[in-house]
Amino acid sequence: MPIFKTGKTHFTTIILIFVSSFTHSQSKEINIKFLGNCGLYITDGTTHIYTDFPYKSGAHGYMEFDSTELDSIKHNSIFIFTHKHSDHYSKKHLNKILKEKGGQKYGVSNISELENLNNSLDNFEIKAFKTTHKVFGISFRHYSYLITWHGKRIYLSGDTTNPETIGKIKNMDWAFVPYWILLNAKEQEIEIDSKMLGVYHLYPEQIPSANKKWSNIDSIQPMTEQGEKITIKL
Ligand SMILES: [Zn+2]
Repeated sequence: MPIFKTGKTHFTTIILIFVSSFTHSQSKEINIKFLGNCGLYITDGTTHIYTDFPYKSGAHGYMEFDSTELDSIKHNSIFIFTHKHSDHYSKKHLNKILKEKGGQKYGVSNISELENLNNSLDNFEIKAFKTTHKVFGISFRHYSYLITWHGKRIYLSGDTTNPETIGKIKNMDWAFVPYWILLNAKEQEIEIDSKMLGVYHLYPEQIPSANKKWSNIDSIQPMTEQGEKITIKL
């Protein structure tokens, strides 16, 4: 009897360990919330990453956002910016948040520090790619990013018009690109190797036509509704 009892206990324990690790890994997912323009909130529940947010609401005729979005920014978040134009970046909002809630920001002025960040992150890796952003012939410093989380790859194109960089990145799960990248890639016969494309940085007046244009294409999601969520499961 004692032998049988021990055996049974072990068996039960093994089952429990198996079930708990199974459900644990099954529940692992990354959530992306669309905030407006190129603004995304990316989290696995532990690490909080904001990209091109906070920006200046309504800047250059692009999307406005409710001030409650600023209030709901998590403490000690990571802020990544492709460049410093006001439809992507607000120094005023960001400084206030960093002062009140802590956190770290990365962008054109301290891109080399990303390496230190990567060393401190357990589950995420963020890689920056120098990309071009020209307005009326003037070049602005600009970076696109590849965020990797447990092998899942999320690409953030930002404002660059050149599809060359994204064309070299293989096996992406989600690539967030403005519409002009799709047009330029097509024109230059560059293929974008991503399971899903999120078309972001739309003008408010482009929303109805964007929804109509891509409603029947499963692999393209126009980012038209602020607050909408995307889940990537392991
Ligand atoms: Zn922009």
